[in-house]
Amino acid sequence: MLDVSSIREDFPILNENVYGHPLVYLDNAATMQMPRQVMDCIVRHYSTTNANVHRGVHYLSERSTSAMEQSRQRISRFLGADGLGTVVFVSGATEGINLAAQCGVRQHLSPGKKVVVTHMEHHSNFVVWQELCHQTGARLVICPLTDAGELDMDFMLSAIDQDCAAVAVCAVSNVLGTANDVATICHAAREVGAVSLVDAAQAMRHGRLDVDRIGCDFLAFSGHKVMAPSGTGALYVSDRMRDRMVPYRFGGGMVDQVGDRQTSYADLPLMLEAGTPNISGNIALASALDYLEELGLDQVATYEGELLARAEQGLDALDGVHVLGHPKERFGAVSFVVDGVHPFDLATLLDKRGIAIRTGHHCAQPLLRSLGQSSVVRISPAFYNTPEEVDYCIEQVSACSNFLRKFSK
Ligand code: PLP
Repeated sequence: MLDVSSIREDFPILNENVYGHPLVYLDNAATMQMPRQVMDCIVRHYSTTNANVHRGVHYLSERSTSAMEQSRQRISRFLGADGLGTVVFVSGATEGINLAAQCGVRQHLSPGKKVVVTHMEHHSNFVVWQELCHQTGARLVICPLTDAGELDMDFMLSAIDQDCAAVAVCAVSNVLGTANDVATICHAAREVGAVSLVDAAQAMRHGRLDVDRIGCDFLAFSGHKVMAPSGTGALYVSDRMRDRMVPYRFGGGMVDQVGDRQTSYADLPLMLEAGTPNISGNIALASALDYLEELGLDQVATYEGELLARAEQGLDALDGVHVLGHPKERFGAVSFVVDGVHPFDLATLLDKRGIAIRTGHHCAQPLLRSLGQSSVVRISPAFYNTPEEVDYCIEQVSACSNFLRKFSK
């Protein structure tokens, strides 16, 4: 069992008041809060270690390089990637997916080839592939969803054929919370020689993501969704792709020899890490993963599952409230709409009561369009939230919706 009250003491921001109410932070799918342990790691870095990496021979530079490389290994272990592939530091899932597309997939695309994505992708795992198809003449195939808000796996598996060059799919939807069977999809891709990418931005804190079991070529995630600073993240690149990658950004740190006319490049991961990286952030990312693992991934997943089920049941019981999707497995987020109430108005009133939730298209316009919506409300609890906070939120969703309905008559 998680000791939530002592966990909350690690997160100073949870003591904030918002418009005179205690903060109820239920927007964790957008960004998680940071524990003291991660903040301390950043302060420690700047107090004892700060120097540029991979460049100097002096003590601090070597210490800084070693701390960042240890963090890379830590991330690799967390993903089950030791001995299987390379972890590239990126600024977040978005950059990771762009790198995978431009450095690992672009050269394999041509008219006649296709890229398969799904209707539940975040724009970061949708527009990237749409644009790549525009650039190369390849065709974008979009897997639809079932009424329950799950992938139509028959469609998906039949789309992964000899013409398929790449498949990109999220492990967990940022709107519906649907957990996808990414292992089946990635193995199907491997069988036809297609490259696979898993967008793990929402999945990282909901259980072990084992790249060996999943069988993906790329996996991207953002640090800020697992309590690390924003501007951090990682892209896992499988060994199979290692020699097929080409550089995308050019500059310092990614070269081997620079001649007047020609340059040869470093191997992965440095080939994809041009310029000075976010050193302190990359180091802090490992400390955030340490924090999560010390809590226990299974315990976190179980507790968050209980909070989410409580939110879903509470919403289901309210008149005129419609929860979107009823997938068999839902992680981290539940979204809904309320008859006669605009999501923006509801979120604004909830904010005035101290409740932080997300509203809008959630960077998933194709998904919202397929659901017949343009804006929805999302509740996304984390392990530092309490059942009382969830109940308060549901109570206020009801009260504010009733108020708005009356007001709009
Ligand atoms: N993919 C998913 C599923 C997300 O939820 C998000 C962010 O919300 C992203 C990608 C993009 O993450 P970032 O903006 O940190 O790069």
